[in-house]
Amino acid sequence: MGISEALEYIQEVIQRACLRSGRKPDEIRLMGVSKFQDIHAVEEAWRAGLRLFGESRVQEAQEKLAGFNRTHPGTELHFIGSLQRNKAKAAVSLFDCIQSVDRDALIDELGALTNRRDTPLRILLELHTAEETKTGFPDGDSVCRAAEKALSYPHLRPGGLMTIAPYTKDGGLIRDSFRALVSLRNKLETRFPSCDWSCLSMGMSNDFEIAIEEGSTLIRIGTALFGER
Ligand SMILES: *Cc1c(COP(=O)(O)O)cnc(C)c1O
Repeated sequence: MGISEALEYIQEVIQRACLRSGRKPDEIRLMGVSKFQDIHAVEEAWRAGLRLFGESRVQEAQEKLAGFNRTHPGTELHFIGSLQRNKAKAAVSLFDCIQSVDRDALIDELGALTNRRDTPLRILLELHTAEETKTGFPDGDSVCRAAEKALSYPHLRPGGLMTIAPYTKDGGLIRDSFRALVSLRNKLETRFPSCDWSCLSMGMSNDFEIAIEEGSTLIRIGTALFGER
């Protein structure tokens, strides 16, 4: 299956998951996770109509995609990996959104780096919900404190939450992870009502149907779109 067929197939699965759960397909953004894929694969996905891409390594994304949105208008690039301090500056200039903000020190770093920008940097706060991953704030309280910190920087704009569910066949465990994110989003909406918390980045190749049923607004798809890495 080529990339455009895979994209069509994923869109069908999204539609069916939406029908099952009483949602509208246009509430859900599809991100192509292009890490370890070459530029030709990204271009092919772009030609098939995809506009949102995610990368998890700053250097790889720089080499592959710097300037891509000039030649491919409408492209939006999000960072979804673990962001080291010494890569934050490059990340801030390359990415439209950092989805994987997972510690207070990183918020301070991004706040300082965006100090003199005229457009705000969008960020998502990552909640840790899976044993096997190491990234993400450990709990809701730490995310609430992080939200407060982020909102103290004029050019950081939190827009929601991100999580990586456990990698398992146990749908119940996956659902628990997504429900934790939804419940935290609801809490943030109450505590920080002037801010937009609507983005819920949850769902990958093996669990995006469940994520949609649970309220995801952005699914991050690598393998199902581009094939094995
Ligand atoms: C790699 C990656 C994905 C995509 O995973 P697939 O299982 O290939 O769809 C999504 N989100 C994050 C944070 C990733 O690192």
